[in-house]
Amino acid sequence: MNQVVMNARMARNKLVDGSASTFASLNVGPRTVIVSNRVPSPNEKGATAGGLAVALADSITDGTMWFGWSGKRAPETSSIADMVTVDGVTYATIDIGERDYTRFYNGFANGALWPLFHFRSGLLLYSRPDYEAYRTVNRAFAEALLPLLKPDDLIWIHDYQLLTMAAELRELGVQNRIGFFMHIPFVPPALLAVLPPAAELLAGMSTCDVVGFQTEGDRINFLECVKAFLHVKPDNSARFAFRERQVKVVLTPIGIDADKFTELAERAELTGDAKRLNESLGDRALVLGVDRLDYSKGLPQRFDAFGRLLYSFPQHLRKVAFLQIAARSRQEVGSYQTLRRELDRRAGDINGEFSDFDWVPLRYMTHPVKRNAIAGFYRRARVGLVTPLRDGMNLVAKEYVAAQDQADPGVLILSRFAGAADELTEALIVNPFDADEVAEAMHMALTMGLSERKSRHESLLLKVRHTTALKYCEDFLAYLSKAEKV
Ligand code: ADP
Repeated sequence: MNQVVMNARMARNKLVDGSASTFASLNVGPRTVIVSNRVPSPNEKGATAGGLAVALADSITDGTMWFGWSGKRAPETSSIADMVTVDGVTYATIDIGERDYTRFYNGFANGALWPLFHFRSGLLLYSRPDYEAYRTVNRAFAEALLPLLKPDDLIWIHDYQLLTMAAELRELGVQNRIGFFMHIPFVPPALLAVLPPAAELLAGMSTCDVVGFQTEGDRINFLECVKAFLHVKPDNSARFAFRERQVKVVLTPIGIDADKFTELAERAELTGDAKRLNESLGDRALVLGVDRLDYSKGLPQRFDAFGRLLYSFPQHLRKVAFLQIAARSRQEVGSYQTLRRELDRRAGDINGEFSDFDWVPLRYMTHPVKRNAIAGFYRRARVGLVTPLRDGMNLVAKEYVAAQDQADPGVLILSRFAGAADELTEALIVNPFDADEVAEAMHMALTMGLSERKSRHESLLLKVRHTTALKYCEDFLAYLSKAEKV
């Protein structure tokens, strides 16, 4: 076995963690071809894997092909994919050219689409060359995938970086069934109108047979947008005709492998990292936030809310510690640099105001932490603070629930603007813009009795166990395989 194959196997094992066989039934029929911006590379650390990669790992099994960007930049975007087959799974990756990458990824995808779809039109930076590079990269993905396709393949494209890839595949003559899933929120027409190529993007998505969303609100927003921009008329089952196809718009919320995560947290509790955290806390209650360092996550507001807790409920002084793990991401984008400075300042303000010579209320770290260490930290945390200003789903909320000790569970505080709030209604649901409301929720969580904590957690765990990553994949692919071939 050569080094590349060995590395790929190690990477896959890390992601799949032995659960592949549970998905075998999906490969009895046509092959599934998953397309995502990023295919985990052999050297990628599990610590930096985003929600998408972690969830998709459960749909990877024998016969599946996973196609996308290698994570490497090259002088030019490659036109032929590198192929590695490990344990029957084919990983097909292309490199992206340096210039394309900057404009496609930092420019249009993360400088325009990400802020807009998170309802932050004020942060949107649009430029035509960026959009052209986005189209070029989507085209390059389609051209590199084309020679790898078999006529019956179910093609499942993921997320906002690839909104126009299906249109490029159709242009190249691909008649396969194509599904698209949007992992981030979708905006109503008045907001989408801000984006100059709005209609073109919607038309691109509507060349798919199935388009899926995380929440009913996102699905409705998309349907309103296609009505407004493409002048189509969806029927009562959210199906509409566009060009020569029928497009079905579905709701398939993403989840985690809850039981596996519970086991991970139980094991992690006994490891060195968890023990070190425990020793540093003594008998103090832990309030925990785990996020990528992103302005959609509401971190400045969260820091303010913690400051309000210490100010309004001084009984918690010295008795609580707030740990915010905020892994740096997209550091080349200006708004992320501004956010970093803002958080540094607010953390300093809070610790300067409330620290004692033997107690620091807020611990804030920006380097990534290993997944198993995080699982142990969740389990130790009396309060899980998940307060994004807007989020597609938010898997941290589900991981926190799965990681709890059922005999003595912690309390989840959840933003009403996270997709997860549609399902996880037994969390303490808050408006993250209201620092006092979040502080009151923290106080309530820190003082909540065992029986209420247990009954809330029991309901939440049932839901997290029900809407798993596996169910998400099965539901979406069931819709896609039912789509009529044109
Ligand atoms: P997003 O996809 O926007 O990053 P999610 O909450 O849906 O947000 O998924 C994040 C995933 O990445 C989760 O599996 C979580 O455990 C992991 N993660 C989030 N923040 C960190 C961090 N600071 N360090 C390591 N892993 C993280």
